Amino acid sequence: MTTVETDVFQTLESEVRSYSRGWPTVFESASGSWLRSEDGKEYLDFFAGAGALNYGHNNPILKSALIDYIASDGITHGLDMQTVAKRQLLETFESKILAPRGLDYKVQFPGPTGTNSVESALKLARKVTGRSSIINFTNAFHGMTLGALSVTGNSMKRAGAGVPLVHATPMPFDNYFDGVTEDFHWFSRVLDDSGSGLNRPAAVIVETVQGEGGVNVARPEWLKALATLCSEREILLIVDDVQMGCGRTGPFFSFEIAGITPDIVTLSKSIGGYGLPMALTLFKRELDVWSPGEHNGTFRGNNPAFVTANAALDHYWSDEALSEATIAKGARIADAFTDLSNTFEGQVSTRGRGLVQGLVFADPDKASKVCGIAFDQGLLAETSGPSDEVVKLLPPLTITEDELDHGLRILADATHSVCS
Ligand code: PMP
Repeated sequence: MTTVETDVFQTLESEVRSYSRGWPTVFESASGSWLRSEDGKEYLDFFAGAGALNYGHNNPILKSALIDYIASDGITHGLDMQTVAKRQLLETFESKILAPRGLDYKVQFPGPTGTNSVESALKLARKVTGRSSIINFTNAFHGMTLGALSVTGNSMKRAGAGVPLVHATPMPFDNYFDGVTEDFHWFSRVLDDSGSGLNRPAAVIVETVQGEGGVNVARPEWLKALATLCSEREILLIVDDVQMGCGRTGPFFSFEIAGITPDIVTLSKSIGGYGLPMALTLFKRELDVWSPGEHNGTFRGNNPAFVTANAALDHYWSDEALSEATIAKGARIADAFTDLSNTFEGQVSTRGRGLVQGLVFADPDKASKVCGIAFDQGLLAETSGPSDEVVKLLPPLTITEDELDHGLRILADATHSVCS
């Protein structure tokens, strides 16, 4: 065993770092659902690069496509030039994802991160409608650039902007009032009331399951009602599928469960498949009013990511197997979490969909203690929610049932030791 040298992170790297504080080791390698630290310890990954590693670390199918591409001197940096890798990806995306779902979307490459995709979605909605205001939801998370931050709820992150964040009005997300009030009526009421003071919005931006906001799951009927309201009032519906897309909740798009077709969809994180930066913004054909170059970015053409994205779509999305396995594995976590919430009623509850599952602690301190114990026992899991009160599980979709059970045992033991 070697000792882990961490001085340079403390002396040179900015105080802004965060994950490294909860997981104070130095990681060296990873494969599948496991990371290895420099001192030889193994960590089971229930975090999956915050949802960027749905197919696991260094997935061999994607790795071999990537190695072949690099070895053949394939284009690495391509801006928005036409390349063989991009053509292949667009064709596969159309044949495996869009066509089977009857989705007639145009595809924009907005720059490689989730927040880039959100910025492009907001700009496009404003350009199409000529309106500036956007409706967002309580506890939403859409990214750290100013437009995306303006539709994000978290007050600490908003304060980081240093300027007023304007042109966004938050509405209650599904179940915000614990089911006591029909949350949704507030929005339709103020839209129709000329005395409400609400500016007519260009768009509504919504996550179907709020990941960073604490694993808040919108019911399909709520999403459906939202989509109907938007279309009746000619407001564009943007679904931010950056974290919940690419199969995280089961189907490729998280909104499929509600049978809706959003006007605009944002994708990033796992679309590249291998953890390489990549994002897409999808929108209905008639919304494609961009002028050439009106939204751009130097790293829109990360061709190695196109290669791994293509391999992932081709391998994992030619049939229903991954979706079905994701739903089954999600149910396995939900069962284990339901046992814990029955044992520790009043202290612990649970919610989730597919392979995003949350264990919610009445006392937020206990959630971070559980994650701390889990780390010591070789398991990575993060907290989310406005007070970091939710232990959020986001394992790779390719995780085995044995690995899942191993991690769930660690979490159950940690919860027992914190709550008993
Ligand atoms: N939207 C959602 C729903 C997200 O979860 C995130 C990242 N957690 C983002 C946007 C921003 O993505 P990025 O960090 O790649 O900018």
